[in-house]
Amino acid sequence: MIRIRDLVFRYQMATARMQPEFRLQIPAWDVPDSARVAIVGPSGSGKTTLLHLLAGIMVPQSGQIELGEVRVTELSDAARRDFRAAHVGLVFQRFELIEYLNVAKNILLPYTINRSLRFDDSVRLRLEHLAASVGLTHLLHRPVQRLSQGEQQRVAICRALITQPKWLLADEPTGNLDPENKRRIVDLLHQQAEVSRATLIMVTHDVSLTASFSHTVDFQAWCGRSEEAGQTEVRQ
Ligand code: ADP
Ligand code: MG
Repeated sequence: MIRIRDLVFRYQMATARMQPEFRLQIPAWDVPDSARVAIVGPSGSGKTTLLHLLAGIMVPQSGQIELGEVRVTELSDAARRDFRAAHVGLVFQRFELIEYLNVAKNILLPYTINRSLRFDDSVRLRLEHLAASVGLTHLLHRPVQRLSQGEQQRVAICRALITQPKWLLADEPTGNLDPENKRRIVDLLHQQAEVSRATLIMVTHDVSLTASFSHTVDFQAWCGRSEEAGQTEVRQ
């Protein structure tokens, strides 16, 4: 279960003369285990911010975020990083690949970040299987800076899936793909979520992809009105 309580997050602005700062406020949000949640909403409404808070990349000014038994908002920076590498698969909207590393090394990055993750033959097999399922087999040894946007996006997706994470967060993972690859990627996310009984949260602008999800959250309607901000419950 993902559980958010009394969350308030603001970006720290460098100077006070900038526009009103963005504020994300979610009083309560529960997502049951194995749910498949599609988040839709206009650009700038805070979807990426929410995924980064769930992944523990940023911490809110106040409130709690729990992923299963773990209260991520109470972990140290190092413990949050290890937890993320081992249990959270995040497909970044801007990929965040390491430019000078090749495709295989980018996909295996969680095993470099968290030294307690074991790299063995089953991981090697999974790497081969994931690369094949998104059409990257012939590119495994190529530096990612020499890939197209669509190829880089597929590397980012494989990296999020390689540890078979319990929480799978995907930030517009089909944004740079053609219709055939889009469908393939969404099917792969569902299939991987099924295998590892993961909770899948995917941000998308493509409403044609939301039908296969158990829940759809319209982010603006949900967070846009201050009095009732975020008072929604996602139930199976
Ligand atoms: P979405 O993913 O829905 O497009 P974001 O979560 O990226 O929205 O951004 C929400 C708001 O926060 C936007 O107004 C954006 O300009 C602002 N924002 C995003 N990142 C930063 C940052 N690092 N510093 C300050 N403001 C930011
Ligand atoms: Mg975004």
